[in-house]
Amino acid sequence: MDDLFDAMVRDRHHMAVNAGFANYRDYAYAALGRFDHSPEDAEAFHTSVAEVVVPLVEELERERQQQLGVDRLRPWDLAVDSAGLSPLRPFRTGEQLLATATAIFEKVHPSFAAHLRTMREKALLDLESREGKAPGGYNYPLYRSGAPFIFMNAVGTADDLVTMLHEGGHAVHSFRTHPLPLTAFKQFPSEVAELASMGMELLSMRHWDLAYPDPASAQSPARPIGTCDRCVAMGSRRRRFPTLGVYASGPRSCATG
Ligand SMILES: [Zn+2]
Repeated sequence: MDDLFDAMVRDRHHMAVNAGFANYRDYAYAALGRFDHSPEDAEAFHTSVAEVVVPLVEELERERQQQLGVDRLRPWDLAVDSAGLSPLRPFRTGEQLLATATAIFEKVHPSFAAHLRTMREKALLDLESREGKAPGGYNYPLYRSGAPFIFMNAVGTADDLVTMLHEGGHAVHSFRTHPLPLTAFKQFPSEVAELASMGMELLSMRHWDLAYPDPASAQSPARPIGTCDRCVAMGSRRRRFPTLGVYASGPRSCATG
């Protein structure tokens, strides 16, 4: 694996030098159209994650480890409810999921809920899982009408609700960027696209209790939020893989002659 990675770094470095760049990092920034943030901005972001987010995640993981009573946490330990509670069931049907997501969006901003209602009226939502349906979940913009469609495989879990809110964030982004004159302006790189969707998850989080009206799930507000530490943990691990530095300094074989 190390050899494969080293070969990839070497090839990419040569590709960048052939194209007139000092290193692959600078080449990649140009190739991906990154004109509004620099490698230094990315480094500063990595550092802030390492200083602020990683200690928080490690603290949550220590708590989880103690609750589970295991000597060390393994990947599958992150997927269980550490208090041993049964899974949350925020909805049964796609129609219920949509009604809940619309109510939550209404709280964040009424215009966001209006976008979901428009999609419902135009039959642009395929939410429930069914036999033979392709896996996955996504929001896809339709450039002529301006209203996107959402495809997903909901089966009633808490994660499905978060997926709906996430894809709903993408959908709001599609509606709001529709007036831009060029289609190319509406084809975002992932760090822009996911800002809208993950931002919607965070903005709506304080209203997730609307999905859990049953007092029997009174523990619910804290529990869905618990799922977020897994996302943060995944993101924070990336700080241990210094991609920017590897590509900025070129391949090891070049550095040693
Ligand atoms: Zn997304």
